Amino acid sequence: MDIKKKVDQLVRTHNTNNPYVIAEAMGIVVRHVPLGNILGFHTRQCRVSLIHVNESLSTEQQIFTCSHEMGHAILHPEVSTPFLKSSTYFSNEKIEKEANEFAIELLLSKEVVNPITVQDAIESYRIPKQLLYKKIYP
Ligand SMILES: [Zn+2]
Repeated sequence: MDIKKKVDQLVRTHNTNNPYVIAEAMGIVVRHVPLGNILGFHTRQCRVSLIHVNESLSTEQQIFTCSHEMGHAILHPEVSTPFLKSSTYFSNEKIEKEANEFAIELLLSKEVVNPITVQDAIESYRIPKQLLYKKIYP
């Protein structure tokens, strides 16, 4: 699966890399709710994708979580996995890796003129540097 290609296409179609704007355009419902130790999760009800984002996160964390869950909504529509606060970035689970890759590609996208950036999210999330450097210095 070529995730970068998928993300580029998405960003070009919607002319933004803002996950909230893309979600709205795609009919994906995003809700901010109290979730305790869960960053967010994605579910599907009656063919509608719903993204739940923990309301107590910082804005940057919410943007990253929304992007990660959008990755699931697009790449794994029938799977529902909670995105946990601890250790998820080091998960070996294929779908978690793919959702993280989707989120990073989206937030580092150069397909738009004024992209929102993930720098602060990287700091607050402690995304494994090797995940990121692979993208910046391939
Ligand atoms: Zn996930």
